[in-house]
This record gives sequence, C-alpha cells and structure tokens, in this order.
Amino acid sequence: MTIDDLLRKSQNRERFTTEELETMLAFPPDSPESYRIMAEARRISKELTGNLAEIHGQFSLNLSPCGAGCKFCSFASVNKIFETSSEISPEEAVRKALAFENEGANAVFLMTTAHYSFSKFIEISKEIRNHLKPETLLIANVGDKTAEEARKMKDTGFRGVYHALRLREGTDTGLEPEKRKKSIRTFLEAGLLVGTCVEPVGPEHTNKEIAEMIAFTGSHPFAYSGSARRITIPGGALAQKGMISELRMAQTVAVTRMGVPGEIKGNCTHEPCTLGAMAGASLFWAETGANPRDVKEHTEEGRGGSLAHCRKIYQESGWEVRKGPSLYYADGTGDGLKSVL
Ligand code: SF4
Repeated sequence: MTIDDLLRKSQNRERFTTEELETMLAFPPDSPESYRIMAEARRISKELTGNLAEIHGQFSLNLSPCGAGCKFCSFASVNKIFETSSEISPEEAVRKALAFENEGANAVFLMTTAHYSFSKFIEISKEIRNHLKPETLLIANVGDKTAEEARKMKDTGFRGVYHALRLREGTDTGLEPEKRKKSIRTFLEAGLLVGTCVEPVGPEHTNKEIAEMIAFTGSHPFAYSGSARRITIPGGALAQKGMISELRMAQTVAVTRMGVPGEIKGNCTHEPCTLGAMAGASLFWAETGANPRDVKEHTEEGRGGSLAHCRKIYQESGWEVRKGPSLYYADGTGDGLKSVL
C-alpha cells in the first residue's frame, strides 16, 4: 500500500490493519512519508479535540525500591538507583494536588509504586478529594488491583486510572501480561475510565511489536492512547539498548493516532516535546515528586516539566490548551468500544 493509499484510507475514516500500521512505522522517521503521516495524525487530533490539547499533573505519594522488576523504571530494585523509601504526608499530598489544580491541570494524577499500602492510598486520596473542587478530576496511577479495590477507588472519588500493558510485559517486567489486562477490565467494570499508552518504546522494539500494541490500545474502550519512548536510566538494566530519538517517538505518536478509532479522542506522549505535539500528541504530563524515569528524588529538579513548560511547548506547536476538566476522562468516553470487553 502506498502512502497515498494510506492517507486516503485515513481520510475515509477506515480502520487500519496491524500490517498497515507496520508499514507506516517502517518508513524512515525523517522521510516525506512519515512527515505526511504526522500531518494527517495532527489533523485528526485537531478535529477530535477542537485543537484543545490537555496537560495533566502527576505527583507521587511515595518513593521506594520496587520488586516488580520493570527494567526501564528507576524505582525497580534491579536498577539500584534508590536504596531507601520515603512517603509524603497527607498535608504535602493535598498541597501538591491543589498546586496542580490552581495551575489549571485538566486532571490530577496520584501515583504510587506497586506495593504502596492500599488503605493508606485510599485515606490520603479521600483527604485530597475533600480539598479539591468537585469538578477537578482525580486519576490514579497505581499497580494492579482487585475488583473490590477498584470499586473502592471509584467510591473515593477517582474518575479514572492510567494503566498500560507495557511493551515486552513479562519479559522486561516481572508482571504477567494477563494480569495487566485483567486489571484494565477490572477498572473499567468498576466504572473507572482507563487511559493508556504504547510504552516504553525502545530501539529494540520491532515495528510489528509496536503495531500490535497500537492495535491492542485501539480495540479497547480506553480514554486515550498514545506513545512514549523509554528514557535511559543510567547504569540501568536496559541502558545498553539506548533510546529512540524524539523524531522516531513522534512517528510512533502519529501512527498511534492513525491506528486508534475516533472514539478515543486523546493521544498522549511523554516526555513533552514539540515534535510530539506537531505529530498529533494532545496530552502531556507535568510532574512533581518521584518519577520512574528520573534518578532525582524530586523530578521537578530533573526531568519533570511544569504545567507552564508543557503549555509553552503546545504554544510553540500551534496548539491551544483546554481549560477545565479533561475531555478524555469525560463520562461516556469509549462507550462505543465496550462491547469488546
Ligand atoms: S513501573 Fe511500577 S511496578 Fe514496575 S518497577 Fe516501577 S514502580 Fe514497580
């Protein structure tokens, strides 16, 4: 299939096969074909969002060496970056959540490592929920959960979660792919909206692997999909494999937008960059506190960008930024895809 055929198919709103996504990923990132795909992805993102991109603010409740063994994560004990554990107080958590709300984040994310106490998580989350405006969306980025825990999260006032089946899950992580998928279903069944991403993309991932993951995210009722590259953890288990360029990441962001249906309005990337925004990324994260891609304890002193930083990147890329609660975590998102569950 030629690039003209692929673009015609996109403009006719037809779904792509995994093989066609693979074809798009096989064009060199700096080729005219890739640039045309990025332009088309940007057109789709603009149409689906009214050219209003989003910035969600994420902070972590704890920092702890984690035994789950995800080789790309700075918290993973196997990477020996952090040797001690720390937690922020409920007061500090409320302060951080309010800071994101005041700065205009479209959603506030609470992150924990996989083994953080669930009862403590719920207790602090209630405290945060009580201090935020009712319309501010609270989202969790936590480990796999049972149906009962997922319902408890919904009752605590979470609108949704971030959860991903990572590339080479079970090989580069100590977590079972089936358990990750089950958690996604469990969250959805509890009434939580689930955002996801094709991540963390590295140079060793084949176009087939990436295309299959895009197809997976496009066939479930996710709040958004997108694509993010792996950030090298110095001395980490995957450091030797290196990192893809922002341009290659932008290509994967664009192909993801092409590969998921319009019911999934959001297309994320991380870390925020103009190339990603130019290629159709409409969701960035601002971050404070601990961050699994950083070796600094407080990512705002390292890799983590602020709301203002993300806003500036969107502005440079010709995007406006949505005001108010996220469109992607609006009730009813992805309803049309629920029959696949
Ligand atoms: S990604 Fe999450 S589960 Fe995996 S090692 Fe890091 S904190 Fe643990």
